[in-house]
Parts: sequence; C-alpha cells; structure tokens
Amino acid sequence: MTITEPLRLNIATGRQGEPAGFDTAIIKVPARWYVPVDGTMGLAAVIAGAELRKVSERLGASIDETLHHAKWTITNDPGLVRELGLRHDCLACRAGLDQALAALRENPDGELAVGHLWWAQQGSAP
Ligand SMILES: [Zn+2]
Repeated sequence: MTITEPLRLNIATGRQGEPAGFDTAIIKVPARWYVPVDGTMGLAAVIAGAELRKVSERLGASIDETLHHAKWTITNDPGLVRELGLRHDCLACRAGLDQALAALRENPDGELAVGHLWWAQQGSAP
C-alpha cells in the first residue's frame, strides 16, 4: 500500500462562542471525490469539502445537535486514523474506529475521512 499525504479540511459555520460538545466520525471516501489530474486520480478538495459539510450537518441532526465547526482529515494511514479516531473515547467512536480500520485492511489504497465535530450550544444563532 502507499500511504498518501493527509489532506485536512476545515468546515466553518460562522457560529461563535464555545462549542458545547464533541464527537468523532469516520467515513469511507467515495470514488466521486476523485477527479483525473495529469493522468492520475486526485482528490477534489472542493467536492470533498462541500460533501463533508453536508455529512457533518447530517451527523449533528441525527443526534439532535447543531454543527459548530468540524475538522476532517483524509488519509489511508492506519496509525493516523487510530490517533484521530480515538479523540473521543466512547463506545460509538470505538466501534466506528474498529470498522474503519477493518475497511482499510480490506482496501489499503482506499482513503478514509476522519472527522472531529464540535456541536453548538442549543439555541445559539449562526
Ligand atoms: Zn464518541
């Protein structure tokens, strides 16, 4: 396998003040995020950023939280996935990390997006 250089993408929402909570999330990077660049396939940061914003907001909505901001790292480095994926050491995050590492073992050249998501205080305006 080839370890690719991690790509970091920040998702801002304009929400001010201190975040109220934090979670991690890991998703497989879909093929549609890659575009041909000089004969090889490269990750399109604009596409990835737009989709990760939607993913971040959807993840928040699914647990009744509102996104404050998020930081995503796209990588296929199992060590980095483990380090970033365990920033929130709860059962759900551990299970997600185990699944993600298994997916990476099956497809070592596939990339994962590891997200750190911060939630806004309830009722805070954007
Ligand atoms: Zn967690």
